[in-house]
Amino acid sequence: MTGISGKTSTDWVAFASALAPVETIDEPVLVKKRSRDFFWFSPILERRLRSCFGDLVARPRTVAELSHCLSLAARHRVPVTLRGGGTGNYGQSVPLEGGLIIEMTGLDRILEIGPDFVRVEAGCNILALNRALGERGRELPVFPSTQDIATIGGFISGGSAGIGTVSHGMLRDDGNILELRVLSVEPTPREEVFRGGAINMIHHAWGINGVITELTLRTVPTEDWVGCIATFDNYPDCHAAAIDLALSETIRRKLCSTLDAHIGAYFDRLKGIVPPGRAMLVTLVPRGQVDTLRALVAGHGGRIDLAMDEAERVARKLPHVFEFSYNHTTLQALKSDRKVTYLQILFPAPVTVAKVVELRAVLGDDVFMHHEFARMGGKVVSFDLPLVKYTTDERLYEIMSIYESHGCPASDPHSCIIEEGGMKKADYRHLAWKKRLDPGGLLNSPKSREWTRVRDLSAEDIEALHQP
Ligand SMILES: Cc1cc2nc3c(=O)[nH]c(=O)nc-3n(C[C@H](O)[C@H](O)[C@H](O)COP(=O)(O)OP(=O)(O)OC[C@H]3O[C@@H](n4cnc5c(N)ncnc54)[C@H](O)[C@@H]3O)c2cc1C
Repeated sequence: MTGISGKTSTDWVAFASALAPVETIDEPVLVKKRSRDFFWFSPILERRLRSCFGDLVARPRTVAELSHCLSLAARHRVPVTLRGGGTGNYGQSVPLEGGLIIEMTGLDRILEIGPDFVRVEAGCNILALNRALGERGRELPVFPSTQDIATIGGFISGGSAGIGTVSHGMLRDDGNILELRVLSVEPTPREEVFRGGAINMIHHAWGINGVITELTLRTVPTEDWVGCIATFDNYPDCHAAAIDLALSETIRRKLCSTLDAHIGAYFDRLKGIVPPGRAMLVTLVPRGQVDTLRALVAGHGGRIDLAMDEAERVARKLPHVFEFSYNHTTLQALKSDRKVTYLQILFPAPVTVAKVVELRAVLGDDVFMHHEFARMGGKVVSFDLPLVKYTTDERLYEIMSIYESHGCPASDPHSCIIEEGGMKKADYRHLAWKKRLDPGGLLNSPKSREWTRVRDLSAEDIEALHQP
């Protein structure tokens, strides 16, 4: 065994020199740092993944350099893990069998900005992309709360929803992703182009079935966004206001999140701004619609405690309001209490306050609800990403089963296995394309439990296992 991971027998010094002129990093501290993502949100994944490392990092700057890395890996049968900004939270970018980490951030060019689309390299930082679009009066319909660090390729491969989903749908919904260009891992890497429904062969496959090099994405007009936090005496009233906001046909909200009153206590940055002990509705609305929002909130007994545009946010040195939403809620809480963790629960359509009240009555005092409203296939749903005061693994799974027994499916964020997450079953279309584009199974294959069972079948036979 050689290398930092202790899992490979490759001569990494020789491998690094064969990669030239591609930049490489072999300093163990830096390689170990690039072997981690935000899996530490989960006490279970922290135990499981903390000693999984890669052996060498490559930082290609062009598609030709990337192709050289993939060709060399295929010829030497070296495991490959793709990495963007490393903000995934289920260990998606953690190398499970050591090997080469390909950091994509060098492929960061914005290739074309059209009237309603953008063509961009996969390693482009999302904040940089949104800024460039903003200069043309456009923005991404959906972006993650991690936009400051995340790459667009990592988001499309690892993410599913985000800021904008309440209006523009899930990433996979029609028209958000227009085209993906993907390289295979073979001695002579091939390019495949995916459009329309075929996008979902690659999207959300956690980087196990091909290397996204270039994306064409829809853009939407940008707005003069005002970040607002409204507060309420109790969670049901707050939730009722959020349902009205999510369903509104007039207010062009970019975000609609509700947080249990206990969660605010973790938010040091909001002390003195948002009063303690009140449930919070976090949203982004166009400046011209703040008064309409104010009336909606008042109609449910609430009030707006914070309304700030970008200039005021910068002047007050405050985070974006979306840094109190999605998984940033968990991150803010973890800054003051390392014993909290989270879950991911779907509240299917139609969203109701009654369902929240019903579940609140059976969940313990160790669960604080946090809902993100979303459009999924045209319907308004919500995702509860509750904060949980962690005690034992058994209790975490007990909470998930309580939600499930009340008709709210849980996707397990404490597993790094793709079939145990949101999908809960194998996506054989993903695996068929893995067979075509990664025939040697080098792209972090242990992330799929099912791959081991099907890897010797033909791509067509794997695809035939797919059940819509
Ligand atoms: C605080 C916090 C908030 C978050 N908020 C959101 C949110 O709002 N919405 C959401 O969906 N997710 C969210 N996430 C999860 C994560 O941030 C997103 O999935 C993010 O956009 C990932 O981008 P990244 O560049 O950091 O990807 P990485 O973490 O580096 O990689 C993610 C996955 O993509 C693969 N990958 C990377 N580049 C490529 C490529 N070029 N081709 C193929 N595969 C590739 C990796 O192997 C890995 O499996 C959040 C996570 C944290 C920690």
